[in-house]
Amino acid sequence: EAKKAGRGRYRFYSSSMKEEARRRKRSFDALTAGVEKGEITCHYQPQFDAVTLEVSGLEALVRWESEKFGLMMPQEFLPVAEDMGILPEFDDLVLRRALHDIRTWHNAGLHVPPVSVNVSATRLKDPMLGEQLGTLDLPPGILSFELLESTFLDARNEVIEKNLAAINALGISIEIDDFGSGHASIASLLEIAPARLKIDRALIRPIVDSERQRELVRTIIGIGHMLGIRVVAEGVETDPHIQILQEMNCCFLQGFGLARPMDSANVAHFLSRAAPSARAGREA
Ligand code: C2E
Ligand code: MG
Ligand code: MG
Ligand code: MG
Repeated sequence: EAKKAGRGRYRFYSSSMKEEARRRKRSFDALTAGVEKGEITCHYQPQFDAVTLEVSGLEALVRWESEKFGLMMPQEFLPVAEDMGILPEFDDLVLRRALHDIRTWHNAGLHVPPVSVNVSATRLKDPMLGEQLGTLDLPPGILSFELLESTFLDARNEVIEKNLAAINALGISIEIDDFGSGHASIASLLEIAPARLKIDRALIRPIVDSERQRELVRTIIGIGHMLGIRVVAEGVETDPHIQILQEMNCCFLQGFGLARPMDSANVAHFLSRAAPSARAGREA
């Protein structure tokens, strides 16, 4: 009896593993086809000066505009890309796409604010990164790289040092993304001396209701001021969030309460009518 149950269970696991392998293969094939069809693109979320509420930047966010599945969000396909070992290629694709869009906006006579792109840890560890960046026609001073704070938990090796130096030499600034969400690393702030620090939206969301959360965010902003690092609040969803963060002297605001990510055509439209206190954007 026990033997039979055991065998049954074994068969169950076995077939589910096969099913899982098939599912994985299907995801890989679908994403590969999407990349080949040029369906990987960028949406951009505006960032705002906290005092004037004027546009101060754009964050490039990868999207898969799939003919088959519709608009796919990063959480739905970046893990697949990571699994396939092609996450660095995605970062590169996004960077090139962003540079292309920046050129298009420039050519349309628009004033383009600084654009930040997300760079994965794997990409930062790529020995070819510095050289590849050197071959791109980078508009000076407009680009920054967002790195997750966890990226710096690993021992900083020679490759990372070399890449950070190359990034710096090209006039690309560094931002620490999702600060305070994982392993808060105040020591790394001193070491890396990023231009900006983005407070994770998990810390921002509760500031309206919790005095303690408010004090935590106020302290992080204070540390930023002390170290000369500009602080960006992520996940700014409501007017009370905006008011509280303004009162705390936060430098920049980003969130659905101000503008949602939008495609490049809508960015052009947005930049052409951007005005103080603009509220805009709808991700379609
Ligand atoms: P992130 O870099 O922290 O980007 C911010 C994410 O928060 C975006 O989600 C944005 O749409 C969302 N967000 C912005 N404001 C609000 C708000 O007020 N409320 C809420 N609930 N969410 C808000 P998205 O586009 O789905 O991106 C998720 C993550 O995927 C990014 O988080 C980033 O870690 C990663 N990612 C996106 N594009 C790239 C890329 O090109 N390369 C790499 N390596 N990672 C990327
Ligand atoms: Mg980011
Ligand atoms: Mg973030
Ligand atoms: Mg994030």
